[in-house]
Amino acid sequence: MMQSLLVDNLKTYYFTNSGVVRAVDGVTFELKKGESLGLAGESGSGKSTLALSIMRILPSFAKIVSGRILLDSIDILSISEKDFNKSFRWKKISMIFQGAMNALDPVYNIRDQLYEILKYHNYKDRFEDRAKEVLEEVELESSVLNRYPHELSGGMKQRVVIASSLLLKPNLLIADEPTTALDVLVQAEIINLLKRLKREGMSIMLITHDLAIISEIAEKICIMYAGEIAEFGRAKDIYTKPMHPYTQALIKAIPRLRGEKKLSYIKGSQPNLIEPLEGCRFRDKCPYVMDVCKKTPPLIKSNDGYVRCWLYK
Ligand code: ATP
Ligand code: SF4
Repeated sequence: MMQSLLVDNLKTYYFTNSGVVRAVDGVTFELKKGESLGLAGESGSGKSTLALSIMRILPSFAKIVSGRILLDSIDILSISEKDFNKSFRWKKISMIFQGAMNALDPVYNIRDQLYEILKYHNYKDRFEDRAKEVLEEVELESSVLNRYPHELSGGMKQRVVIASSLLLKPNLLIADEPTTALDVLVQAEIINLLKRLKREGMSIMLITHDLAIISEIAEKICIMYAGEIAEFGRAKDIYTKPMHPYTQALIKAIPRLRGEKKLSYIKGSQPNLIEPLEGCRFRDKCPYVMDVCKKTPPLIKSNDGYVRCWLYK
């Protein structure tokens, strides 16, 4: 079981032709032993970039410019790529990518797709046993190994994707929108599967625009807005007493959100991450904006977390 994850003032920027995109801009949160995290926020707030930073699989023009990521007290950003790949990536931390079920290669059967992952990790000899084991963990029959992606339903494909992320027995699983594009019943099955993995000891970092789903899995929640965490705290506090005006708007929107994709919760343009607003980044959308919000970025400690809002000073 994972002991702890600490992300400390992490900044990940994309260096593009139009400027430096500050996609993750000073993100801090901590997960203690056995805790799972829900990461929510509108499209473009930096959720996937945060996940890719933890996995260290960013595109070449992206850079982690500062901050630390400690997994069980080991700073995984200071390890060489070779060692990270040997001992951490897929082994300790694994990830289900957004849209992965639609990216399964149509010309290979499931056995080949799983083998492709294992062959780089000295598991070759025990492949067949491990593949069957992992399919059992996601409640698929071993005959699925002989099937091709087009022969599987959406839910089965997503289980294969989850199985492939479990092959090397990680203890932290990052799941980026794992239920998007599935119908409601299948969504519920996949959530139940993630819940079971969690019960069996896996820490899960669930990225979604759907706060209702997070409530089923996570003890902690990060609400992201414009590359920052607007609010971080215990799930039950955030559901019952959301503090940040953005979180309040998200919670209010829950019944509408189910199943909708890429929804922007608050009307108005997407925040500019090349030249973010000074002070509070939410201030052009906030009904409570005050003078101080225009000048100084807020960061206020809360019960077991923090909130970026001057209303709580
Ligand atoms: P979604 O829910 O749509 O996946 P997200 O919250 O995961 O959104 P990110 O994909 O991390 O957000 O994007 C954060 C910011 O970084 C956005 O402004 C986005 O435009 C920018 N960004 C993401 N990927 C790239 C990239 N490959 N090149 C340049 N900018 C990028
Ligand atoms: Fe609104 Fe000010 Fe709080 Fe920002 S700091 S969310 S502008 S009240």
